[in-house]
Amino acid sequence: MDQLPINLTVRGRKVVVVGAGIVAARKAELALRAGAEVLVVAPELDDEFLPLVEHARFRHRSGHAEPQDFAGALLAYVATGEATEDLRVRDLARAAGALVNLPDQPELCDFASPAILERAPLMLTVSSAGTSPMLTRLIREQLEGSIPATFGDLARFLGAIRDEVAAEIPAPDARRHFFERLLESPVADLVLAGDEPGARRLLAQELAAAADPSRPVIGEVYLVGGGPGDPDLLTFRAMRLLQRADVVVYDRLIGSPILNLVRRDAERIYVGKRMGDHELPQEEISQLLVTLARQGKRVLRLKGGDPFIFGRGGEEIELLADEGIPFQVVPGITAAAACAAYAGIPLTHRDHAQSCIFVTGHAKNGRPDLDWATLLQPHQTVAVYMGLAMLPALSEDFIAHGADPTTPVAIVDNGTRPNQRVITGTIADIAARATEAGLKGPSMILIGSVVTLRDKLAWFRPDSGHSVDRQSGRIA
Ligand code: SAH
Repeated sequence: MDQLPINLTVRGRKVVVVGAGIVAARKAELALRAGAEVLVVAPELDDEFLPLVEHARFRHRSGHAEPQDFAGALLAYVATGEATEDLRVRDLARAAGALVNLPDQPELCDFASPAILERAPLMLTVSSAGTSPMLTRLIREQLEGSIPATFGDLARFLGAIRDEVAAEIPAPDARRHFFERLLESPVADLVLAGDEPGARRLLAQELAAAADPSRPVIGEVYLVGGGPGDPDLLTFRAMRLLQRADVVVYDRLIGSPILNLVRRDAERIYVGKRMGDHELPQEEISQLLVTLARQGKRVLRLKGGDPFIFGRGGEEIELLADEGIPFQVVPGITAAAACAAYAGIPLTHRDHAQSCIFVTGHAKNGRPDLDWATLLQPHQTVAVYMGLAMLPALSEDFIAHGADPTTPVAIVDNGTRPNQRVITGTIADIAARATEAGLKGPSMILIGSVVTLRDKLAWFRPDSGHSVDRQSGRIA
């Protein structure tokens, strides 16, 4: 993050605008709307200022900026249209303790002006730390169409009932749940339809029910697949629940790009393995989910990939079901599918593989424990999870059980993440290649002739370094 996002209260505070043109006029107008006392300093004002000059909180001082113009100022906008003058004025303003913005010169600014989408009192702001105002404007336009104008009414209504609800439901978690339910309830529908008295009547009933002490508190558990690492591969539902959960229980495979999407004040509990440490035993994790849910919390159990593929999701929901805790399971993109896509290897292909089998390379008694007859079927792709540590033994066993040593193999290490690497070879030499490359995992091992398609598809892979010339359609 390059900047700290805040919404500043400027009501009654002094904001100085230096400049006479349209850019300066827009800033002055915005500051007036936010309640500031606005001083514009410029030799002469353009017509753009005409609608503002009568405003009670608007003042114009004719001339060039001087130190005393900034006395007591909270903010200054500088748009004189002259580079050296801009800099001189910025330094004056800063010396007086004001934060300075120079429109369209992000590198000189103390703060940025975001693109604004207003549904008063609701306000959405979009900013790109000065890198692309065009993009922020485009995003704002897209949001414009998806946020109904009446959301402002809803925001006002929610603000108005806040104290009343807090008095009835003092516990913060319970109160947040109440508001979340309210947003999807007929109460909100009535507000949006303009029937506030109706909404108030219904709200009174809902509050009475929520405050009833005889109601048992019980939370719920979401068992969510977080995918292989690229946050762009999360499902919409996963995103929604990440915003709703009170507590997130996560393990090793979940990286910070996804954790950053968790609601900021949600509690996070790490249950994975750290170097030299042991992970929490499965029974304890399951028990933890039950305990948290019994405290009335919304518990999100976040797992890498898909929860039901080598994720022990089945074991976790067994206990939840036994204990009568409501839960839902949200599928995620499993590592085999994601790594294959990001490495340009189709898992099945009419000419190469009619089936694809997912196995774990996890060892029992130091050797992979696999059903070789099923594994060595022709025209089949084998995706091995958790196989990196066992790779030398795994390739030996493949060959010992009759696999062709020249069968192509790809290892996708840290698939879909910025540090993704793909190593290819054959069953005979892949273990040596992986060691040479110093792979640390997590790694997905893909075995079968589909791996050769990676070269055919090379032009179109994101990691190929090639691009298609849009005009000629040629590969560059
Ligand atoms: N439930 C997960 C798998 C958990 S087992 C899923 O559906 O993907 C853990 C194994 O998954 C790792 O040892 C590795 O083989 C694989 N894996 C998970 N994320 C990966 C990634 N980003 N790149 C490569 N392999 C990954």
